[in-house]
Amino acid sequence: MSSSAALNTNKIAFFSTQAYDKTFFNKYNKDFDFQLEFFETQLNPQTVSLIENASIVCVFVNDIINATVIEQLAEKKVKIIALRCAGFNNVDLEAAKKYNIKVCRVPAYSPQAVAEHAMAMILTLNRKTHKAYNRVREQNFSLNGLLGFDLFGKTIGIIGTGNIGKAFAKIALGFGCKVLAYDIIENDEMVKDGVSFVTLDEIFKSSDIISLHCPLNNQTKHIINKKSIDLMKEHVMIINTSRGGLIETACVIEGLKQGKIGYLGIDVYEQEEKLFFRDLSEDIIQDDDIQRLMSFPNVLVTAHQAFFTNEALTQIALITFNNIKSLLTTGEIENKAALLV
Ligand code: NAD
Repeated sequence: MSSSAALNTNKIAFFSTQAYDKTFFNKYNKDFDFQLEFFETQLNPQTVSLIENASIVCVFVNDIINATVIEQLAEKKVKIIALRCAGFNNVDLEAAKKYNIKVCRVPAYSPQAVAEHAMAMILTLNRKTHKAYNRVREQNFSLNGLLGFDLFGKTIGIIGTGNIGKAFAKIALGFGCKVLAYDIIENDEMVKDGVSFVTLDEIFKSSDIISLHCPLNNQTKHIINKKSIDLMKEHVMIINTSRGGLIETACVIEGLKQGKIGYLGIDVYEQEEKLFFRDLSEDIIQDDDIQRLMSFPNVLVTAHQAFFTNEALTQIALITFNNIKSLLTTGEIENKAALLV
């Protein structure tokens, strides 16, 4: 179809599409009947030209939706940018406003999926089940090197107590942990459940395990840095399932080398857009920081999979389609948190 063909207000161009995106979005489109076009490539200034006659684009965590891309989207008469994720640090909202393009997201699809993955990372790093799995397969039944600690009674510090942080706090309380939390807004319901809201410094000083659940923004960028690591307990465990930019990678590598950081679990990484969601098993990886991180025996890296459950993908598809339908018919979305611009 040529770019001069009539604009299709029912057509959605998907970027960064994986096989599972196609499966879930095709399955739930039966109730909506949008025209779907899937691109495997990331949306960025070089790939925006792929869009032909679609008035809606659907993007994910590592697509680049900066002012340059938005200007080109406006030229192509794109009216809606639908994020199929919760975080929106990769979108220039001011530019979208300037060009009158609506931006929506999926504020909460399965907070439990991410919270449960954070706990899975803690349990793996602590009890070393990944090592035990490989060891037993080679008929090595020794326990040396697998020593863990009881989670019961330990102090877990949560930074960011929104949908995911709240779900994670419930899990941590269920394990019998003492739960400390820091957020710009305190949550009374969580206090009733037994969570203590404290200062950020107190989180750093008193936690055996720190789990990050705040968004990435100007206030939270590199919230884990040399100064905060210096405040932490010896052998602290740090878990990041939120956004890579919350951690200043070089400082964490130094903390691991010195033994100050005892364990690190990351599902997100500052430079992840060049790595994650791809099979690079035949490539020479140029990113020395991720290679160094992966070389530590006490570091667990998963490739942005915390959201990846059946329930979450179902909700992502349904909420994204409903957001778009609602914007096309009323210009609004009932759930105010879903509409960013
Ligand atoms: P949310 O908006 O419900 O909660 C975020 C919380 O962070 C809010 O309570 C907010 O007040 C708090 N916050 C904002 N600024 C803060 C600051 N400076 N210091 C401390 N707290 C602050 O979001 P959510 O659904 O709980 O998601 C949290 C983050 O998790 C998202 O921003 C996203 O980046 C990430 N996420 C990751 C995955 C994954 O697969 N790894 C999936 C979904 C979301």
